[in-house]
Amino acid sequence: MANSVVKINNLVKRYGELIALDHFSLDIKEGEVFGLLGPNGSGKTTTINCLLSLLAFDKGDIEVFGKEMSPTAYDIKKEIGVIMQNVAVYEELTVSENIDYFCGLYITDKEERRKCVEDAIKFVGLEDFRKFYPKKLSGGLLRRLNIACGIAHKPKLIILDEPTVAVDPQSRNNILEGIQKLNKQGATIIYTSHYMEEVEQICTRIAIMDKGRKIAEGTKDELKRMIRNTETVNIEILDVSEDIIKEISALPHVYDTAYDGEKLTVYCSGGKHNLIRILDVLQKHDMAFGRVYSELPTLNDVFLEITGKALRDKED
Ligand code: ADP
Ligand code: MG
Repeated sequence: MANSVVKINNLVKRYGELIALDHFSLDIKEGEVFGLLGPNGSGKTTTINCLLSLLAFDKGDIEVFGKEMSPTAYDIKKEIGVIMQNVAVYEELTVSENIDYFCGLYITDKEERRKCVEDAIKFVGLEDFRKFYPKKLSGGLLRRLNIACGIAHKPKLIILDEPTVAVDPQSRNNILEGIQKLNKQGATIIYTSHYMEEVEQICTRIAIMDKGRKIAEGTKDELKRMIRNTETVNIEILDVSEDIIKEISALPHVYDTAYDGEKLTVYCSGGKHNLIRILDVLQKHDMAFGRVYSELPTLNDVFLEITGKALRDKED
């Protein structure tokens, strides 16, 4: 078994009356890309801030690299790279000066630092923007600068808190590929997001959070096996009667249906021929239909089945 990089044990964090973390535990091993997935307000950033000893907590303990974490544990902190949710760079410094500044907090040798800064610039693809000031950068490029500042000192543990919120697709891909590359080069990654697709794409293990609690944990396949949904069949179809919906609901393996007047959604659990059986019913009643598609479960279905609500915000 690989070494534990982060061990959080029964963490409780209150903000006044609000319990932001409710007996929250994690054990992250060396070499993982660990995803913390949860809706806004579920406690992801609070977890990161406690983990870094930036925030005092009420109960529990935290170990990083096998040692107790504390505000003055500089030997641990220099092995951690943090990319915060809110971009934190200096407006009066250029791209390369910013990276040099943050890298300089950990690496004092000038020559070594010059090389690290150069590597970081290339890594995030900011070669053409070295002399730019932050305010001249697009949202996506600014995010990449934020990442370069966090990783230039080549930390063993890299924590990224929602690094792709409000970035263009190109920067988003650049960021996700970069994270996987850093992991291949040996870094352990903690990645928080409320975008389930990203977490599915890059994370080797995932903890799903809701209201300060861990509601499920595992690989994406393990998580999907925890729920009864195995397939969701969607059919674009008009004027479906209640009797037909009842007949479909009574088919083997169908556990739920939804109809909005334009699209019939059929939730199935197990079974191999769900689609055919559903279409047989429609054909028997001479119903014409449009597009038909079947979806495998997503992490959103996992979240939905456990909490009874969707993971996504409406505005996303
Ligand atoms: P996430 O990062 O998953 O969006 P947060 O950790 O930021 O969630 O927040 C968890 C909960 O704690 C939310 O209900 C949030 O409103 C609350 N919260 C976060 N920071 C503070 C704070 N400084 N004071 C009071 N409440 C806070
Ligand atoms: Mg957050």
